[in-house]
Amino acid sequence: MLTLKNVKKSYTTGDFTQVALDGVSLNFRENEFVAILGPSGSGKTTCLNVIGGLDKYDSGDLIINGKSTKEFSDSEWDSYRNNSVGFIFQSYNLIGHLDIVSNVEMGMTLSGISSKIKRQKALEALERVGLKNHIHKKPNQLSGGQMQRVAIARALANDPEIILADEPTGALDTKTSVQIMELIKEISKEKLVIMVTHNPELAEDYADRIVEFRDGNIVSDSNPLKSETKKEEYSLKKTSMSFFTALKLSAMNIKTKKGRTFLTALASSIGIIGIAVILSLSNGFDKKIAETQEDTLSEYPITISRQAQEISKEAIESRREEMKKKLSGSSEKVDSDEVYLYDSSEDMITHTNNISDDYIEYIKNIDPEIVDSIGYTRIASMNLLRKVGDEIKPITFSADDKSNSNSSQHSQMSSGLASYPSSIKGDSASFIEKNYDLLEGEYPKSETDLVLIVDSDNRVDVNAMKNLGIDTTDIESIKFKDLVGMEFKLISNNDYYEKTQFNTYMPSSDYEKMYNSNDTVTLTLSGIVRIKDDVGMSLINEGIAYSDDLTELVIERAKESDIVKAQKDADYNVITRESVDEETKNNLVAHFGGDATPYAIMLYPTSFEEKDQVISYLDDYNEDKSSEDKIVYTDLSKTISDMTGGIMDGITIVLVAFAATSLVVSLIMVGIITYISVLERTKEIGILRALGARKKDITRVFNAETFIIGASSGILGISIAWLLTIPINNILYKMTDLESIAKLNPVHAVALLLINLTLTMIGGWIPSKMAARKNPVEALRSE
Ligand code: ADP
Ligand code: MG
Repeated sequence: MLTLKNVKKSYTTGDFTQVALDGVSLNFRENEFVAILGPSGSGKTTCLNVIGGLDKYDSGDLIINGKSTKEFSDSEWDSYRNNSVGFIFQSYNLIGHLDIVSNVEMGMTLSGISSKIKRQKALEALERVGLKNHIHKKPNQLSGGQMQRVAIARALANDPEIILADEPTGALDTKTSVQIMELIKEISKEKLVIMVTHNPELAEDYADRIVEFRDGNIVSDSNPLKSETKKEEYSLKKTSMSFFTALKLSAMNIKTKKGRTFLTALASSIGIIGIAVILSLSNGFDKKIAETQEDTLSEYPITISRQAQEISKEAIESRREEMKKKLSGSSEKVDSDEVYLYDSSEDMITHTNNISDDYIEYIKNIDPEIVDSIGYTRIASMNLLRKVGDEIKPITFSADDKSNSNSSQHSQMSSGLASYPSSIKGDSASFIEKNYDLLEGEYPKSETDLVLIVDSDNRVDVNAMKNLGIDTTDIESIKFKDLVGMEFKLISNNDYYEKTQFNTYMPSSDYEKMYNSNDTVTLTLSGIVRIKDDVGMSLINEGIAYSDDLTELVIERAKESDIVKAQKDADYNVITRESVDEETKNNLVAHFGGDATPYAIMLYPTSFEEKDQVISYLDDYNEDKSSEDKIVYTDLSKTISDMTGGIMDGITIVLVAFAATSLVVSLIMVGIITYISVLERTKEIGILRALGARKKDITRVFNAETFIIGASSGILGISIAWLLTIPINNILYKMTDLESIAKLNPVHAVALLLINLTLTMIGGWIPSKMAARKNPVEALRSE
C-alpha cells in the first residue's frame, strides 16, 4: 500500500551537505509490523518523516495506494498526515496545556469531526491503551509509559492506515518498553506499523520484518515485498480548523500563564486608558460647553442691522499668517526707515442691508415655532417731559451720561429707540413676563406702560436715574414705591419744536405749555422687574424699557409733523442749518420719527435647536438675490461657540496624539509577546503540523492568542478608564464645582476597543506568519 521509490534526501547546513537518504526503495504491505534498525545518523528518522509527509523528499517518489505524491499540494500533505498517518514519538510530544482527552482528540479536532463522535473515539482509544481513568489529567501528571500510551491513543484515534513510531520506547525502562511493544504489536494486526528502533532484540521479538539502514541506504530487508499492491483510487478528506477551535486552543494555553497574560494585557491597555480618559474628559467638557451655550447663547439674538460688518477674507488670512509666524518663531521684522500706510477699515467689509418693507414682512412671517420674539431698533427719538415737584424737566430714557453729551436728545443718531423684543404671537408683554420676575407694581399691559429693569443685585446705572430727572446727589438707593407709578409725557414734534425765522427748528423752552398741550401721551412706569434665575443673561440693558408698540406710536405721531416734512424737503440739517448729504439727511428724518424702517432687527430663536432653522429661513431669502440685495445677518452666538468648540477640539487632538504614542508602544509590545509565544510554542506548532494542521491553522492559533490579548487589554483599558472617571470627577468637582465632567461616550469606547483589537492583531500578525512557516520537523525537534 506504501512504496518508496529511489527516495533521496539531503540537508545542507552552511556549505556542508549531509546525505540522509541515498536512494531508498521500499514496499510496505497493508498489515505488517516493520522495524527499521540502524546506527544513529543512518537516516531512519528522516525516512520515517518522509513516509509521514512531515518532511519532503528531494527526489524519487512516495506512492500511497498507487498514487504518486510528486505533485501533492500542501493541503494534500496536511490531509494525508491528518487522515492516514498516526505518529508516535520518542519524546511523546503531547501538548502540555491540554488534558489527556483533548490531546487525543486534537487530530480529529483538526479535521472538524463533531465533538460527540470525537469524544467517543478518543475514549475508545484511551480505553484500548488502558488509560480510561486518567482522561482529565494533564500530561505532566503522568509517567513516561502513560504518556507514551496517550501518544499511541492519539495516533490511533482518527483510525489511520499507517502508524509511524520513532523509537517509541527510547525513553522508557525495560518493563514499560515491553508493555508498549505489546500494544504496538496488537495494533499492527490491523494496520501498517513502521517503527524505528536501535534495539535489535525488541525488533527480533516483535516485528514481522526488519529493515536495516546504514548511511542512508538499506543494507538488509528480512521480508521484502517485490510487487506493489494496487488499491482503489486514493482520496483524502480535507482538514480545517475552525477559528473557535483556535481560540479554545489559545485560551487553554493562556490559562497556563494567567499572570503573564494579565500583565501583558494591563501594560498594553495603558494607551487605551489614556485615550479613553482624554476622550471622556473632552466629551464631558464639550457637553458642558454645549449645555452652557444652549443656556446662555440661545438668548443671543440673530441680528440684522442696516450696516452689517464682516471681517474680510484677506484680514482673516493675514491674521492666520501672523499666527503661523508666531508659532514657528519666525516673526521677521521689516528692515526699513519708512512708515507704511494701510487702511485698517479695509479689514472690515461693511454691507448695507436694504431692509425693505418686503423683508420686514418676510421676517414677520417666520414660523412662531422657531422664533418666539423679534426686537427692533429704530433711530426715532422721543420727546419726553416729567413733572418733578413743581418743575417740569426734559428727560430721556437713556443711561448715557448727560453731562458729557450736552443735548443728547438732539445729537443726531445716538439715541435710537431700542424697545424690548415683542412676542411674535402678538402679546408684547410676554417677553418681559417670560424672562423677568416682577419685584413691584405690575407687568406692562399697554403700549404706554414702561418697566424699570434692575440687575440681579437690584442695581441700575445712576445716569439712567439722573436722566429721568431724579436728584441723585448724596443718595444710594431709591424705594421701589417712589419709582412705580412715575409718569412721563410724550410731546409731539409740533409742540416740541418751534420754527424760527431762518426756516430752521429749535426745541422750545416753554415746558409748561408743552406739558399742558392737548396733543400728549402719558407714559407710566408700571413695574420694576429683574431677570429670572433660569435665564442665562440679561438681554436688555438695565434701565427703562418699553415695547415696540410704543416706538411705533411715536413714529406714527411724528410722521406728519412739520419738522419731518421740512427735513424731508431740505438739503440741510433743519436744526443746525449745516448742509448734509443724502445719507445723513435720511438719518435725520428717521431721527425725527419720519421713517418707520427699523435700523436693526433682532430674532430670538425659541431654543438652541431651532436656531439652524432660523438661519436657513434667512438664507432662503438670499437664495436668488444679487450680492447687493442680500441681507447679511450676524450670529454672535455662533462666533462664540465656534471659538470655544475649536479650542476644545485642538486640545483634544494634541492629547489624543500623545496617548496614541503609548498605543503604538503597546502594539510593539504585543508583537514581541506574540513572538516570544511563538518561540515557546514551537514544539506545539510541530505537533499540530504532524497531526495535520495547515499553515493557516497555525496562523489562526496565534491570531487567536493575540485576539484574546487584544480583546482583554481593550476591555481592561476601557474598564479602568471608566473607573478612573470617578476619582477624576471628584477632583474636578472640588476644583471647579463642575459635576461629572468626565463621561465616556459608549461610541468612543466601542471604537477604541475595535482600534485596539485591530492594532494588536497587526502586532501579532508577523510572528504568527513566522510560526506558520516553521518547518514541522525542526519545530518538533525544538525543546
Ligand atoms: P537517525 O534517525 O538514523 O539517527 P536521522 O535521519 O535523524 O538519523 O539523520 C540522518 C542524517 O541527516 C544525520 O547525519 C543527521 O545529522 C542529518 N540530519 C537530519 N536532520 C537534519 C537537519 N534538519 N539538518 C541537517 N542535518 C540533518
Ligand atoms: Mg532518529
